[in-house]
This record gives sequence, structure tokens and C-alpha cells, in this order.
Amino acid sequence: MPFVPTRAAALQQLEDFAPLAAKYSSSRNFDLGAGNHSGVSRLSPYIRTRLITEQEATRVVLKKHSPHAAGKFLQEIAWRTYWKGWLEMRPAVWRHYTSTLAGLEKQKELPNYRSATSAETGIKCFDHWVNELTATGYLHNHARMWFASIWIFTLKLPWQLGADFFLKNLFDADPASNTLSWRWVAGLHTKGKHYLARASNIAEFTNGRFNPASQLNESADAITEDTDFEKQPLSLPNNPTSSGRTGHLMFPDDLAPPPKSIGKITATAAFVPTQILTTPLVEKFITGAINDTLHLARGTLLTGPFESAVNDWISAEKLDSIVISLPTVGPTRDFFESSNLQLKPEPFVRSWDRQLWPKATAGFFKFRKQLPEIHQAIIDSGDLT
Ligand SMILES: Cc1cc2nc3c(=O)[nH]c(=O)nc-3n(C[C@H](O)[C@H](O)[C@H](O)COP(=O)(O)OP(=O)(O)OC[C@H]3O[C@@H](n4cnc5c(N)ncnc54)[C@H](O)[C@@H]3O)c2cc1C
Repeated sequence: MPFVPTRAAALQQLEDFAPLAAKYSSSRNFDLGAGNHSGVSRLSPYIRTRLITEQEATRVVLKKHSPHAAGKFLQEIAWRTYWKGWLEMRPAVWRHYTSTLAGLEKQKELPNYRSATSAETGIKCFDHWVNELTATGYLHNHARMWFASIWIFTLKLPWQLGADFFLKNLFDADPASNTLSWRWVAGLHTKGKHYLARASNIAEFTNGRFNPASQLNESADAITEDTDFEKQPLSLPNNPTSSGRTGHLMFPDDLAPPPKSIGKITATAAFVPTQILTTPLVEKFITGAINDTLHLARGTLLTGPFESAVNDWISAEKLDSIVISLPTVGPTRDFFESSNLQLKPEPFVRSWDRQLWPKATAGFFKFRKQLPEIHQAIIDSGDLT
């Protein structure tokens, strides 16, 4: 089933998947191919745009199952939050990635990069995943792990180019989950611990659809780097409260309504930085999600140069203040920080993020200890927006 970029489709997908969440721990590792990803939720494009939020997905699943029964699925939802919090505290990882990537532009002309990205490596599973990714905007998690490992250790391509290829083609493209997962596969996240794709594992978890026996480098060493990235304290702004006529400005990273505590919103608008419209397929998904959100919120799509588009909107709506979901580390923050608006938008942070990001100081094992409290709060109040 193709992804339909609407909130209604996202909610339907969540409702359809929720009964299966207790079986997820046994089904999640099997990649049965496009059209058959029934063991996983396929919610990521919706969560990445926040057509539905992590909190919402958690709440719907907790209505059907105990935190224990759906534990594995609830933990995976939290992985996304963990990566986001981790990167918020180490923005230098993102800066290092983008500056290294800029220096690799010439490598895109080399035959091994071209054959990898045009599905002509001769490694059937890899070529299949390239085609699935570029045709559907999605890959199963296990396929992403195998893909990244083959890219780095068998095809010997720089991990940064692979991360870029994913970021440009995934509907759920997320600078934190993507960059840090690629670094994890390479052995840079947990230094020296890399992920090596094995033919037998691929055969088992694709139900025998593929078996690249003797085609993979199954004994490569981890990638190393000589940079250490210091952790910075996370300083999250207090949420604003609306004053006078207040506008809500959105980027495609967060299309959910602002927290109710902000107060009355007079006008809603969205802007799409062209940098993230990377392929016609991604553009269709993102603009579909934006149009649906603006239709539901009776909002305005801002087009043209960012500053003048926002200024025109401020004048047309006679706005006194603007609120915006805090642009997180990645292309959106880079874009936002390079802009120069007359009326500076005041950022807000959703309480899910505010509670969990600061806990991403070390490994996921420590982080996940916070989850029972969060789940109980959702069960008790139902609201963590
Ligand atoms: C190399 C690599 C690159 C990746 N790039 C991205 C990316 O750009 N954006 C992205 O959202 N995820 C990324 N992931 C994580 C994961 O593969 C996807 O989130 C997941 O496959 C999405 O499919 P799903 O919604 O069916 O997941 P499910 O298995 O149904 O999981 C439910 C939700 O939990 C979250 N989630 C699950 N697994 C992970 C994980 N390992 N890390 C972070 N969140 C997770 C997602 O929001 C997902 O929608 C990447 C993983 C790897 C190995």
C-alpha cells in the first residue's frame, strides 16, 4: 500500500496496526518485501512529519495493550526520541557530517557509487532495496541495517554518501535517526562496535527471498575517525504563551497543532524549504502532508523567499507574535538559523520531547528506564502533547 500523506490515513494506519503491537517483537525482524511489511507499523513517514505524534502512537497502543505486552513496540517509538535528544546535545556530529559530505561530491561520479545508487551492483538484495527505496520512499528496518552495512563494508563507499542517499529518498528522512543509525552501523556511535550484514541472516529474515552467500564482506573492521564530539548541556526554551494575535508557523518536521497551553492561535501557516524536496516522490509526500494539514487548520501555504513570505503573512494577518515548534538539529535548523525574520518566532517544545530528550545523555539502555513513568502518565492523563 502506498503512503497517503494525510492525517486520516495516518490515524487509520495506527488503528490498523495497534491490535498487532503485542506480536511486534516476534514479527518485526522479518522483511517480507514491499507490499508485505505487515510485521511492522510503517508509521515512520507519519511520525516524521508529526501527522501523528510519538505520544499519540503510544497512547493508541496503550489503549489496546499493557505497557509490558506492547513493550518492544513502545521502545522502538522511543528510539526515535532518543536519537533526537542525543543529537540535540551533540550538534557537532551533524555539522561534521554535512561538512564531510560536501567534500565527497566528486565521489558521486565514481563507478562504484553510480552502480550502487542505480541498483547495478549484482548483489540482488542490495539492488532490490535500492529499487524499493526509490520507488516507495520506505525500507524495513532490517533492510536499512543490511543496506548500510553492505554499502560501507562490501562496496567500501563512505557512510556519509549512503546516509545522504537515504536522507534524500526516505519519506521518514530524519537527520537524527538516519545519521546516527549510519554511524552505529559503521562502528562510530559505539566506537569499534559495527554491524556486519551476514548472508545467512539475510536469508533467514527475508524468508529465503535473498541469499547473497559469498558476496558480502563479513569480516571487515569497524570504521574509525579521529574526532571526539563533546556533549553540550541541553537548554530548552520555556514555552511561550500567545500574546495578541498569534500565528503558528510550521515546517514539515512537525505538522501537529501547538500545545494547548500556548493559548489562542489566530492564524496558521507552513513553509517548505526547497532543500528538503529532494525527489519528485518525496516532494509529493511532503506537499501532500502540508496541504492536508493546512486544509484541516484552514492555514496558508507560504511560498517564495522565506523572509518576505513570512513578513507578508504577518502583515496580512496583523500578527503580534509567532510560535514555532523548535527546529531540531538538521536541515530545518540550518535553514531556520540562516534566516533573518523581522518578528522572531518563539519556539515551543512538546512535553514528550521536553521530558525525554534530556535523558539521552548516554546509551539507550539507560534512556529506556524513563519509559514506564512516561507510559503511566499517558495511561493516567492521556495527554502529553
Ligand atoms: C541506516 C538506518 C537509517 C535509518 N534512517 C531513519 C530515518 O531517516 N528516519 C527514521 O524515522 N528512522 C530511520 N531508521 C530507523 C528505522 O529503520 C525506521 O524508523 C523504521 O524502519 C521505520 O519503519 P516502521 O515505521 O515500519 O517501524 P516500526 O518497526 O513499526 O517502528 C515504529 C516506530 O518506531 C520508530 N523506530 C523504529 N525503529 C527505530 C530505530 N531503529 N531508530 C529510530 N526510530 C525507530 C519509528 O518512528 C517507527 O515508525 C534508520 C535505521 C537505519 C538502520
